[in-house]
Amino acid sequence: MHVQGPQRLGDILKTTSIPGASSSPPTARACPTCGTEIKALQITLLGELKWIIPACPMCRDRAEAQAEKRQRQTHQTTRRERYLERWPDWGLPLDLQEKTFRNFALRDGCKGAFEAAKSYASGWPQTQGLLLWGPVGNGKSHLAAAILGEVVGKGGVAVFLKVQKLMFEINASYGDRAKENELDILDAILAMDLPVLDDLGAKRWSEADRDRLFYIIDERTANHQPLLATTNLTPNELRGYIKDRAFDRLMDRCAFVENGGKSYRGRGHSA
Ligand SMILES: [Zn+2]
Repeated sequence: MHVQGPQRLGDILKTTSIPGASSSPPTARACPTCGTEIKALQITLLGELKWIIPACPMCRDRAEAQAEKRQRQTHQTTRRERYLERWPDWGLPLDLQEKTFRNFALRDGCKGAFEAAKSYASGWPQTQGLLLWGPVGNGKSHLAAAILGEVVGKGGVAVFLKVQKLMFEINASYGDRAKENELDILDAILAMDLPVLDDLGAKRWSEADRDRLFYIIDERTANHQPLLATTNLTPNELRGYIKDRAFDRLMDRCAFVENGGKSYRGRGHSA
């Protein structure tokens, strides 16, 4: 084994200086960038005490924080791009793309749901689960779209999923020409900041569909991840449409808010 190296290095250090190291204490100096006073630091270099002026700790922390922030932003941007490629316009159908809280027509019976949706959006990402239920066409999807818009505005990744369409897509993923499989789709949904399950009780789901819904609901709620859902059914009816266990998870983790307003349909308003 070659043992000469370190000894030789020690000899070299005695005769040459390393940048910034000195054997007598230098006076403190002010950081040229931020003005913070930087004190000299005594270190042991190969058995010898040396004084060095370290890098400004304030500037170093700031640079590290900036680098981290840039990295986070880049990551978030690519993540949003990836989702938008899969679900253009965050999955919103054309008739819901312009829906906000401001253009929501507040009618009798809607106030509670409107306020709940607004506070859900303003509290996001601290808010967890919300299920809006009530008659067909009374603005539940409008409110869900408005929440989605605010979440996306805050930098979140949210996707509006018409449950029936989602089930068609998953079934299509078993076709020969499919580019993605069922697990790709479900995993993408689970990795979102906020998936919106719109029209959870659109029909009596097949056993396979019920399993998928349970998987999404169970994974989201078990991991304390936000979830938003709408349904035209009463909670009691909904229980019969999805698995009991999925319903129980929703009860545990979501606020059930009734939108008691009558339908807007046929009055020049959309859902
Ligand atoms: Zn500094």
